[in-house]
Amino acid sequence: MQVPITQDVHTIPRKLPESDRLNLIGLTRDALRAALIAVGTPEKQARMRTNQLWQWLYHWGVRDFALMTNLAKDFRATLAENFTIELPEVMTRQVSEDGTRKYLVRIAGGHEVEVVYIPEDGRGTLCVSSQVGCTLTCSFCHTGTQKLVRNLTPGEIVGQVMLARDDLGEWPEKGAPNDPTARLLSNIVLMGMGEPLYNFENVRDAMKIVMDGEGIALGRRRITLSTSGVVPEIARTAREIGCLLAVSFHATTDEVRDTLVPINKRWNIAVLLDALREYPKVSNSERITFEYVMLHGVNDSDDDAHRLVALLQGIPAKVNLIPFNEWPGAPYTRSSNNRIHAFAKILMEAGYASPIRTPRGEDIMAACGQLKSATERQRKSRAQIAAEAGL
Ligand code: SAH
Ligand code: SF4
Repeated sequence: MQVPITQDVHTIPRKLPESDRLNLIGLTRDALRAALIAVGTPEKQARMRTNQLWQWLYHWGVRDFALMTNLAKDFRATLAENFTIELPEVMTRQVSEDGTRKYLVRIAGGHEVEVVYIPEDGRGTLCVSSQVGCTLTCSFCHTGTQKLVRNLTPGEIVGQVMLARDDLGEWPEKGAPNDPTARLLSNIVLMGMGEPLYNFENVRDAMKIVMDGEGIALGRRRITLSTSGVVPEIARTAREIGCLLAVSFHATTDEVRDTLVPINKRWNIAVLLDALREYPKVSNSERITFEYVMLHGVNDSDDDAHRLVALLQGIPAKVNLIPFNEWPGAPYTRSSNNRIHAFAKILMEAGYASPIRTPRGEDIMAACGQLKSATERQRKSRAQIAAEAGL
């Protein structure tokens, strides 16, 4: 993240080349305040100016300093001389027959990530990426075949939400009520590319911006962070973000989970479950979502379903059963519909909600695990994945 210079330095406003101007998108309130002071805003005005600017950026979605009419003209000029308001650039936009929208966006350095908007009855969910590629190598995940290129900055993460709101035409009109329950983009899932808990600070700062009541104002229960199980960061997520948690569980024995989600070798099922047991208490959130990808003959037996029920004991949980999205060269196939329903029935009879995720946007390859990008060029060889996953 670009951090502005120390708070008490007063620089004389001067025109900087665009590339040297600081992008305001993604700065926390404190960083924004410090940036304003650094360009000469008197300290005693800085809080008020920060609030005003914040509302223009995140409540109204304004991108041009000249339109920020409650700021003095010379202050607007100072802003324009020193700062920019930039989002990742939308390269392509595809709309599926079912209304799912997929954006391929370009970030600094020419990297590309995907953002997916999924409309549902009464709500709409945006699937946001946190990294280009992923350091982890889950053997069923397409992103896991791509090397980590870099972490996204807070601006690139919050920028995904803002560009989707642009496309949905969802910034409030002057005078119109700002009712989060009536929004097209009402929920966020951190389930795109990358492991959000390996980019903790940037994800946290971005989500703080998204949750801020004077801006985009999506409540913490409308955000779900999905992790493969980075145990040390789970309690921190509860304390510092407080959003809902989903965990890529996918197996009921360490032996199988070691191959599917290799981070299990570091923090195994028992250790992960201990951390999850504490999560709802600390974050005051409701249930934890257990994501479970259905892989034919690997993790989809009745015994697995019964073991899963036993493991979930004592944790407020729901299970999302995800039919495997096959990708070219994947070492697995999708469980049959009958198998998935039989598995779901065992969970339901034990009292767990276990919805089966309907594949969305299949015609535009918008499914999780199929999110791909220019980083494909750096794809690992299949042999390397198999070796790393211990297959
Ligand atoms: N790294 C995080 C979040 C991104 S993956 C995590 O692993 O949780 C988002 C979800 O998509 C995870 O539950 C992941 O296991 C699942 N997923 C990945 N590839 C998939 C595939 N090919 N089919 C179905 N689900 C997949
Ligand atoms: Fe990374 Fe998540 Fe894919 Fe695993 S499932 S490789 S953690 S993106």
